[in-house]
Amino acid sequence: MSAGHVQRLDRTVEALRAQGLTGLLVGPSADLRWLVGYEALPLERLTLLAVPADGEPFLLVPRLEQARAQACGAGDLVELVAWSETEDPVAIVSRRLGAGDGPRRFAVQDRMWSMFTLRLQAALDDASWVPGSTIMRDLRIRKQPEEIEALRAAGQAIDAVHAQMPDLLRPGRTERDVGRDVAERILDEHDVVNFVIIGSGPNGASPHHETGDRVLERGDAVVVDIGGARGGYCSDSTRNYVLGPATKEYQHLHDVLQRAHRAAVEAVCPGVAAASIDRAARKVIIDAGMGERFIHRTGHGIGLEEHEEPWIVEGNEEPVEAGMAFSVEPGIYVEGRFGARIEDIVVVTDVGVDLLNRRPRDLIVCD
Ligand code: ZN
Ligand code: ZN
Ligand code: ZN
Repeated sequence: MSAGHVQRLDRTVEALRAQGLTGLLVGPSADLRWLVGYEALPLERLTLLAVPADGEPFLLVPRLEQARAQACGAGDLVELVAWSETEDPVAIVSRRLGAGDGPRRFAVQDRMWSMFTLRLQAALDDASWVPGSTIMRDLRIRKQPEEIEALRAAGQAIDAVHAQMPDLLRPGRTERDVGRDVAERILDEHDVVNFVIIGSGPNGASPHHETGDRVLERGDAVVVDIGGARGGYCSDSTRNYVLGPATKEYQHLHDVLQRAHRAAVEAVCPGVAAASIDRAARKVIIDAGMGERFIHRTGHGIGLEEHEEPWIVEGNEEPVEAGMAFSVEPGIYVEGRFGARIEDIVVVTDVGVDLLNRRPRDLIVCD
């Protein structure tokens, strides 16, 4: 819980009223964490934050979770309502929300399980429903200064792990050996490990390859894409390493990729369409004759979740705005042989762009 949370609830109520919604119902999710600072466990027992447009918000928790909800400070923000094992939590929600005078419309968090959504819909059977993102998307997409600082700290943390990669990547080790060490180093710098992708040789051509039994060989190119979370906020950064001198062919591919990455970063500025950032990276790769090898979007938003809005992709003509944080991660993949991706998290500022990852973007030779 922080001072920012009070303001977040106020802004949520404003958004509900502006959209003519009766209330917002939020289960365990990044939305819940953003709203009241509570990292709830996704249990078969209902945890639910209700934010009415008129009236007091409350957080319903199973009695055995009450201490955790209290400890994070959520109880100082909203009324905590604990339900015991023999009570029907949905009946409590429906009783507290009362009856509407006129048609009621609720926003329900996008990832609420159907086992709860369907029961809530049955209990509030006069209401109509919209996805919670109707409210939450606009609230979360521009980060507050405290969130940007948390992302910056996460960026520095993952940079510190990348700095250690040359010690860990050695011929004869498996991707899994390396991955275990990397996970440990991520934990030295973060609260949790979110993912470890060690794509050596031909495995580098699969963007979401995790780690496997492949043994690293001299001459391998290795794509290392890693992320964790610190204070809830995520890191995500990719660099490319080569075990011994790079071939001319791979060095060329990497040079093209580095130019594409730079072009995309330079395209970031408040007011430009998200799609134009994608196009800036793609143009460099297409002009080099490798357009069909860049098989994914250029980036994704990041915050309490590794992947959230905005999407930096062709077709998204929405302008990026100050406070938005997202990855810039063009990649070039040659099936059966190798791949490469360069990924940094950037924040749009009032005048341009701020890079949260600062490690050199060159191909790094491990000897
Ligand atoms: Zn990804
Ligand atoms: Zn990544
Ligand atoms: Zn990413």
